[in-house]
Amino acid sequence: MVEGEAFDAVIVAVAPYHLPHVLPESPLVSRLQSLHYWPIYTVYLQFGQPVSLPQAMTGLRGGTADWLFDRAALTGESGLVAAVLSAPSGLEGIDQQGLVRRVLVDVRRLVPQVAEPLSWRVVVEKRATFAAEVGRWCPPLRAAGPGCYLAGDWLMPDYPATLEGAVRSGVAAARALLADYQS
Ligand SMILES: Cc1cc2nc3c(=O)[nH]c(=O)nc-3n(C[C@H](O)[C@H](O)[C@H](O)COP(=O)(O)OP(=O)(O)OC[C@H]3O[C@@H](n4cnc5c(N)ncnc54)[C@H](O)[C@@H]3O)c2cc1C
Repeated sequence: MVEGEAFDAVIVAVAPYHLPHVLPESPLVSRLQSLHYWPIYTVYLQFGQPVSLPQAMTGLRGGTADWLFDRAALTGESGLVAAVLSAPSGLEGIDQQGLVRRVLVDVRRLVPQVAEPLSWRVVVEKRATFAAEVGRWCPPLRAAGPGCYLAGDWLMPDYPATLEGAVRSGVAAARALLADYQS
């Protein structure tokens, strides 16, 4: 029932850690603890002068950051560089200042003459993605019972946590619902 209107079926497309709020009585909830998550870090460096990276989005290997974004090229924010670290390893014990130093090394691989940043900010999304581990629990989309269909990236075993997986899962849930209710 939503705002007084009854529906035959529902697609629940929330992240796994939101499921207990939406389906508190579901037996699925007890199994959610088996899922692990990976973080994504974004480090913003604001320089006092324009910094021109080779591309608006530059992939790196062998450093700390995975990607550097030239925010001047993307959004017109002069001197702003954003570094993204996806599920980084080897950062145990490092503080934010240390992380900034390491990302600065990455930037200087591309722009050697760049000065110290005027300011910086580190944003850590601790549960950015589910951990795509071997053998992880991946319930079927009808697992929540009749009339309730699950959708979301974490329900697609063929993909890591991606938009592609989320879209395919949503399409699969919609098809399952239609198949059940049109027959
Ligand atoms: C920083 C970051 C960078 C990423 N970069 C990439 C990338 O470059 N490429 C890529 O493919 N993927 C990327 N991903 C992963 C991608 O964002 C996810 O795989 C995708 O968003 C998952 O979609 P979803 O619909 O399963 O879940 P979500 O996008 O998490 O959507 C779930 C929605 O449910 C809503 N919700 C929660 N509770 C309720 C409630 N009670 N009622 C109503 N709504 C509710 C939430 O607000 C949310 O909008 C990135 C993720 C992060 C965090």
